[in-house]
Amino acid sequence: MMRMLIMGPPGCGKGTQAERLSRRLGMTGVSTGEVFRDHVKNRTPLGREVSVHLDAGDLVPDTLTNRVVRDRLNQDDVRAGFLLDGYPRNTAQLAELDIILAANGQELDVALQLTVDDPELVRRLLHRATMTGRSDDTEDVIRHRLELYHHETEPVAAAYSRRGILLSVDGMGSEDEIFGRLLAALRAAFPAAIPDTTTAG
Ligand code: ADP
Repeated sequence: MMRMLIMGPPGCGKGTQAERLSRRLGMTGVSTGEVFRDHVKNRTPLGREVSVHLDAGDLVPDTLTNRVVRDRLNQDDVRAGFLLDGYPRNTAQLAELDIILAANGQELDVALQLTVDDPELVRRLLHRATMTGRSDDTEDVIRHRLELYHHETEPVAAAYSRRGILLSVDGMGSEDEIFGRLLAALRAAFPAAIPDTTTAG
């Protein structure tokens, strides 16, 4: 079992691919965006604190986000491995993740990155807005989230690249194609850890 994360700009499909990967590889998925949306939906105290940031497309403050991740990664079901989706999103969170893992004698095995160009992202997100009505899928907020990704999150990918653990995968194409590429990239890097069966699931 491995410790991995998936990152990529809003609209790149990382949520969908993270779900498929965790199902396929039998890993527990942890999505910070989903955790936050659940809290908002259930009107918890944390949900009340974060909803303004979510609606504006801003990052939730690091103190809150780091606490949520620390609590989650200290639970038993992720001791052997996990697939983190949406964290870390800036270099301060990256440093925090290193600390959280080191405290448990762990380290990250691989960071997957999905790449999609900006015009395609805007197109997909505007389309998603008409389907799901997610409160942060309006054009202004979409552009703001993209900007944040370029300024705050791309340096995280660069840092993992310098460590030699970044696997960058082309996120243009069909859901199945992208899933196939992710599995192939993982299999090439970790032949023993990724079973070589079909790409279904
Ligand atoms: P997307 O990548 O499409 O924006 P996510 O579900 O990953 O979707 O994130 C949705 C929102 O949740 C973000 O815009 C942000 O407000 C909040 N969020 C998720 N992860 C983090 C994080 N690591 N740090 C701060 N805020 C986060």
